[in-house]
Amino acid sequence: MLTEPKRRYKGLVQMRSNHGLNVPRSVLKRFLRLRTTRQYPHFDAKNKLEILAVKAGIKPAFSVTRGETSQLRLAATLLDLKYKLTTTPTPYFSREPKVKSSFLEAFIHIYQEEAAWIYSEARIESMISAALSGRLNEGYVLGYPECCIKWHEENRVLQVESVFQDVETYISENPSALINAQRGGGEKEIYEFLLCKSTPPTYHEIEDRVFVDINDHIERTYRRYPFAPHWACSSCLDGQSKETEKLNRQYQKLAMNINPKLAQMIVKSLGNLTNGK
Ligand SMILES: [Zn+2]
Repeated sequence: MLTEPKRRYKGLVQMRSNHGLNVPRSVLKRFLRLRTTRQYPHFDAKNKLEILAVKAGIKPAFSVTRGETSQLRLAATLLDLKYKLTTTPTPYFSREPKVKSSFLEAFIHIYQEEAAWIYSEARIESMISAALSGRLNEGYVLGYPECCIKWHEENRVLQVESVFQDVETYISENPSALINAQRGGGEKEIYEFLLCKSTPPTYHEIEDRVFVDINDHIERTYRRYPFAPHWACSSCLDGQSKETEKLNRQYQKLAMNINPKLAQMIVKSLGNLTNGK
C-alpha cells in the first residue's frame, strides 16, 4: 500500500521542489490536474505552461478561445491571478484591408467568440480593453515579440482580403446564391450568410494560398520553438531575429523547473499535431 500514492502522483504532478514559483506544491498539483481545453487537447499542457508564465512574471496575460471556462477560472483562483471573460479582440490591422466596410463588419462579427483571460496585474486590464476595441494588437498584451506581431498583423490583412476576393468571385459566378443570401437583409447580412455557408472548394482558392503560408509558419514554429507562446515571423524562423528563440528558451526553462514531464508533454503534443495525428 505504501507504493500506491507514489503511483497515483506519477506524471505531471510529480514536480521538482525548486520550480521557482511562489506557489505551494499542493496547489500546483491541483492546477496541473485541470483541463484547460476539451476542444484542443493538444494545447492543454502548453496552456498550463503559459498560465504559469503569467504567474512567474514572464508573460503579461494569457488568453484562450474555446477553453474550459470553469477550469480556467479555477486555475486563476488557485494561482491567485485575475480572470476575465470577454469576446475576442477586434482585429488590429497593420493597414486598412481593401474590402467593403460591410464585409469587414460581417467578417469580424462571424469570427467573434468567447475569450478567457488570465493575468496578474490590474494595469493589464487597460491593455486588454485597448485590444478588445481594436486600438492595440492583442500580441502586446500576450507578451509576443514585436517582429512576430507585425508579421501576424500583415497576414491578418491578407487573410481578410483573400476571403473577400473569394466571396466576390463566388457571388459573380453564382448570382442565385446572392438572391438566396439576401432574404430581406442588408449587405452585411448577405456577407454573414455567405461566410457561414459551406461552399465548394474553389470558393476558398485565394484564402487557401494565404493559409498555406500561415500554416507553414505554425508548423515550423512548433518544430523549432515548441515552448514559444506565439507563431514566429520569418526573421525568427530564419534565425535573423533571436526574439522567439529567447522566449522559447525562457518558457522551456520554466517548464523544466516545474516538471520535465510538462516539457516532454508539450513537445509530444505539438509533434503529434504537426504529424497530422
Ligand atoms: Zn519574430
